[in-house]
Parts: sequence; C-alpha cells; structure tokens
Amino acid sequence: MNNPAVTIPQPRDLIRRMKDYHPPLGNRSGVRLDFNENTFACSPKVLETLARISRAELTMYPERGHVERIAAAHLGLKPDHVLLTNGVDEAIHVLCQTYLDAGGEMLLPVPTYSMYAVYASGTDAKLVEVQADNAFRFPLEALLACVSPATKLIAIANPNSPTGQAVRRDDILRVLNAAPHAVVLVDEAYFHFHGQSVIDLIGRVPNLIVARTFSKAYGLAGLRLGLLAAPEEQMQWLRRVISPYSVNSLALACLPAALEDQAYIDWYVAEVLAARDEFTAFIDRLGVRYWPSRANFVLTYIGPQHAAFCKAMHQRGILVRDRSADPGCDGCVRITIGTREHTAAGAKAMEEVLKEIGAAE
Ligand code: PMP
Repeated sequence: MNNPAVTIPQPRDLIRRMKDYHPPLGNRSGVRLDFNENTFACSPKVLETLARISRAELTMYPERGHVERIAAAHLGLKPDHVLLTNGVDEAIHVLCQTYLDAGGEMLLPVPTYSMYAVYASGTDAKLVEVQADNAFRFPLEALLACVSPATKLIAIANPNSPTGQAVRRDDILRVLNAAPHAVVLVDEAYFHFHGQSVIDLIGRVPNLIVARTFSKAYGLAGLRLGLLAAPEEQMQWLRRVISPYSVNSLALACLPAALEDQAYIDWYVAEVLAARDEFTAFIDRLGVRYWPSRANFVLTYIGPQHAAFCKAMHQRGILVRDRSADPGCDGCVRITIGTREHTAAGAKAMEEVLKEIGAAE
C-alpha cells in the first residue's frame, strides 16, 4: 500500500509550520471572566432588532455599505474611511494578507493579543517581536530601533491585552512618523474602557489604521462585528482582499440599534470601571500583585500555582484565563472585569482559592 503521507493532499509548507491556536472555548458555563466579553448582555434594542429580522434579510446576500455609512457618521469619519469586518480578527487577517509578503516584516510589541502573530505566521513575512519590560510599558525605543525599510506592518493594541497597559498618543505619533512606509494598526478593541483614541487622525495620517470591535463593551462577541478605519488610499486594497459577505445580515441589522443606544454603553462602561476599582482594591488587600489596567480586565500575578489557581476557580464556577505562556507573563492570570456582581463573585472565589492553594508570594 502507498504511504498515505505522500498520497493525500498536503498544505503549503507555511501552513504546516503554523502553530495551532485553539482558545479554550469548551464548557464555558459559569461566570465568564476569561475572554474579556461583556459579562451581562448587549443592549435590549439589539435583541428587539433581532426578533424583527425579516425573511428577505435572511434570503439576500448581506450588503454592508449603508451600515458602514451609519458607523462612519457615528465615529465622525467619512463613509470612505470605514470598513466593517467579521470582528477585529478578520480585520487583522485582512491586514496581514494585504501588506505582508516575502522579505517584509511585521513588528509586534509583546506580550499582546495572540491573533496578530497567528495571522502573520500564515504569510511569508518575518515576525519581529519586541519584548516589553516587567511593568509591560510600551517598548517605544526598542520598537523604533527595529523599524527598517522591510517593515510593512506594526500592530499596537491600545489598551493592550493581556496587560491592560495604555500607549500614549505621543508614542503612537512617534511610531507613525518613524515608519511612514509601514501600516501602523492601532487596535482599539478596548477603547470604551480607556476613552482615548487616535481615530481622529484617520485621513490626516496616511499610514494609520484603527480597529474597533463590538465584542467587548457592546456585548456582541457572538455576532462577529468589528471595523477598520483607514485612509482611502489603503481602503481600496483592503476591500480587494476582504470577502464581500463576511459581515452577515444579522450583524448588519443590529449595528445601527447598538450604536443608537449610547446610554446602554455608558451604563455598562461605568459599571465596569466601578467594578475594576472595587476588584483592584480587594486584591490589594489580599496582597496579590497586578498591573493597573485601562481595559475591562486585570492581569494578576499568581505565581507557579497559576494552573491550579485557574482550575480551582473553574471548580467554583468562575472562568479566568491563564496567560502564563505569553512572553514575559510567567505565573500570570488575566481576569475579566464585568458587572460589579460578576466581578465580586470572581474576587470572592479568588480569596478562597488563594487560601486553599497558598498565596502568590
Ligand atoms: N483585539 C484585541 C486587542 C483583543 O483582545 C481581541 C479579543 N480578545 C480582539 C482584537 C478580537 O476582537 P473581535 O472579537 O472583534 O474579533
């Protein structure tokens, strides 16, 4: 018999070399403090819209143009500056496919969101990671030192995940100026909890692209909805790469309702910020080390017991995310901040678990 390894179809070498990435999505019943989602719900206006979906909307291919115009108006941008995407993940994929090829480089301050490296590894470009210090401050000077004519794409999450650290506007401007030949993606997935943005520079700075998501504050992670704000000169390439139907009709129908209900977002963000203050004050008293966060999560240092800690939390019905394998994050666990009630349940479980397994240090 033939050797099946040589007779069955084989992927490109690059795909064979890619690492598997499977986020721990199975069995997520309990209080979900693991994926930085909204822990409560989306706006009731979105649910009302979903209940009214028509047959025609489901039968027809989705048309995103008119909803892009609504999103652009909401953000104070020109319609030509906004591209809706199937979550920011698709946006990252599209950017990697558009700008990264052999001989090119992507610069990535790390630790950061995993999908930048995942999608970059599916291209022929080289990934250059720039490690942050122990405080996880944005490694500006080290990053600038890596900029070269080969630099094609630089991804900056602001605030960053899993650290919660924010990047100063001046630092972003320095990166934009130092690499005019490279696209600088500023991923503002957690914008609502931070309140600072560079989206106002879209169209004025030719190499800036900003990403936003509806998965976090808006509570719509399941709908898969994000957007890119980009200058028109870049938008033509992005539209060439993206699938024209990647944002489905349900997501398109819901977006205007989500944007209209600003009161809901204001309420949820205020709830998270209050919960974050309560949580950090509580873990301060427990003596747990953490990094101050500008987002809806807090990175804590649990130490060598990180895996046992996550398991014991899970047994108490609280899901948290072990980030120990991220660069420079040995012993770290990330805890999503949700409503005050959900976050308090997490804090209480944490106190019990730390007693059970022994304190962090
Ligand atoms: N960017 C960052 C920094 C994130 O943390 C996440 C989600 N965890 C995403 C993008 C992905 O967002 P989406 O659900 O819109 O794909």
